[in-house]
Amino acid sequence: MEAATKLLSDLVAIPSMNPMGRGRMGKEYCEQSIAEFVAEFLRKASIDAELQQVSPGRPNVIGSVSVGAQETLMLEAHLDTVFADSMLIDPFDPIIRDGKLYGRGACDTKGSIAAFLQAVVNSLKAVKNMRYNVLLLFVSDEEYRFAGAQYAVRHGLKTDFGIAGEPTQLRIVRAHKGVTRWKILTQGVAAHSAYPERGKNAIYAMAKVIEKLQQYAEELSTGPLHQLLGTPSLSVGVIEGGQAVNVVPDHCWIEIDRRTLPGETTQSVLEPIHSLLNDLEGCEIREPHLSVAGMEVADYAPIVQDLAQAVRSVCGDAIVEAAHYATDAGIYNSVGVPTVVFGPGNIAQAHTESEYIELQQLHQATTIIERFLTS
Ligand SMILES: [Zn+2]
Repeated sequence: MEAATKLLSDLVAIPSMNPMGRGRMGKEYCEQSIAEFVAEFLRKASIDAELQQVSPGRPNVIGSVSVGAQETLMLEAHLDTVFADSMLIDPFDPIIRDGKLYGRGACDTKGSIAAFLQAVVNSLKAVKNMRYNVLLLFVSDEEYRFAGAQYAVRHGLKTDFGIAGEPTQLRIVRAHKGVTRWKILTQGVAAHSAYPERGKNAIYAMAKVIEKLQQYAEELSTGPLHQLLGTPSLSVGVIEGGQAVNVVPDHCWIEIDRRTLPGETTQSVLEPIHSLLNDLEGCEIREPHLSVAGMEVADYAPIVQDLAQAVRSVCGDAIVEAAHYATDAGIYNSVGVPTVVFGPGNIAQAHTESEYIELQQLHQATTIIERFLTS
C-alpha cells in the first residue's frame, strides 16, 4: 500500500465525530485520539509537534518545520467529521474498492490531512531544498463552530500564506462566501386562548419580523453582484414558539442564516437588521452564535499562481474558482493571511452515507504539495 493511502486508512479508522452541540460523548466523538495519532506521526518524522487544547478533549495539532526559509506556508485541515449514523458502509473500517477508499472523513477532510502530512515527509527527504518553512495546523471543531481555527488565530498563529484542505477535486478555490447565524426572539404575554385579548401573542409579533426579513432577503438577492460570488443571501431556517394551542404564546424565536460576501463583517450584517426591526417592540436580536468571514485572494497572489503551476505540472491543467460554502480559510484571510482552499476528493461525497475519496486524487494532491514545496 502506498504511504499516503496507508496513512489515510489509519486516520479514517480513528473516529473523530463532532458532537455538533448535541451533547454526544464517547470514544467515537471529538478529536483527542486523532490529534495524538497525528502528533505521534509528526514526531516519528522528526517534526516538532504539539497539541493546542481548544477546549477539554478538543485539541488542535501544530507541527512546525523550519528550514531557514524566509516565508512560511501553512497547510491546514480539520480533524473532525460529521456523524456516521446513517452510513451504509462501516464508517471506521476503511475499505478500498475500484481505486476508492471508503469511510467517514475519507474526503472531508482526512484525505487532505494525509496528503499534506505525506507531502511534507517526502519533501524533507527530497534532494531539493524546501522553499518554505511549513506550519502544519490540524484543527478541531470545524463542522459545527469553526472553533479550532478561531482559537489558532487568537493564539499566535504565524504564517505568510496558507492552504486550507477541503475536497475541491484539486481545484483552487480563491474566493468563497462567509456565514453569520443568529437568533431573534419575540416576547409576549401568556393568556388563556379563550381570552386572547388578555395576552400578547409572540407568534403574531414574529410574523411581522419574518415579513420584514423576507423583504430584506429579496432586496439582498437583487442587489449588486460580486464578480465571482453573486449576491449575499438571507434565510430564516428555524422557528419555534408557543407552549400549547390553548395558550396565547409568550415567546417565539427564529434562527437566521446569512451568507456574506468578502468584506462584510458581523457589524455590517447586523446593522441593517437593527434598523429594520427598530420599531417592532418586544423583539430581541441576539448576538451571532456563528460568524465566519467570506474571503477572496487575488488571482495574481503568489499562493494562487504558484499552486496553480504545481497543479498544472501534475494534472496538465489547473482550475481556479469560487465556492459558496464557508471554510476555515475565511478566518485566516480575515487576519491577513492569504489562504486558498485546495484538496483531494469531491465535496459531493462529503457528509454522505457512503463517503469515499478517489485514491488517484489523494496521490496527485500529495505530489502537488511536494512540488509546491520543493521546486
Ligand atoms: Zn470539511
